[in-house]
Amino acid sequence: MKIVFATGNPHKLQEIKEIAGDTDIEFILPPSGFDPIEDGKTFEENSMIKAKEAAHLSGMIALADDSGLCVEALGGEPGIRSARYAKTSEKRIEKLLNAIDGFDNRDAKFVCAMTLVDANGNIIFQTRGECKGKIAKHCSGSNGFGYDPVFIVGDSNVTMADMSESEKNKISHRGKALRNILDYISKNSFNL
Ligand code: IMP
Repeated sequence: MKIVFATGNPHKLQEIKEIAGDTDIEFILPPSGFDPIEDGKTFEENSMIKAKEAAHLSGMIALADDSGLCVEALGGEPGIRSARYAKTSEKRIEKLLNAIDGFDNRDAKFVCAMTLVDANGNIIFQTRGECKGKIAKHCSGSNGFGYDPVFIVGDSNVTMADMSESEKNKISHRGKALRNILDYISKNSFNL
């Protein structure tokens, strides 16, 4: 079964393909012109906007995620604005470390909402995965993307960027959300 994965981020597609592993689902990128306006107020709304746009352009079943980092001391920021918090990945990390400087509470979580829609853009299933951790004082590790170098996973002392791809996928917000989607598809594929 082919499903359009509504992203322009090659790292995300790579993670999705690796998590889906040996299922018989082939994830493909949306056609050119995919440029949804992410003006939702929640991760769920934004993932729905992206999935509907991908289904509209491709005429196929589409899956989208919307994800971000929520930092407790910053009232949940950068949250749904994680990708737009500053212009580059380095600047986003620098801004985050400055914003949280001086706070004892460095608790944070990665959130990933996923929406699966049919070829007409009707919602089939929606789910969310979360991964708890803390914001590190300095960058560590060179794997992954985005805020991974400053996100310490759970109670461990390693960042997501210190982990291999397969280690990250076992515990990540995206891994959890996608496994819920795959579980739904395996139980309901007769409807799809
Ligand atoms: P989206 O493409 O609108 O979902 O943007 C999500 C943004 O949140 C990304 O550009 C990253 O900055 C951040 N983010 C989401 N998931 C991860 C992750 O697994 N690791 C690091 N940063 C992430």
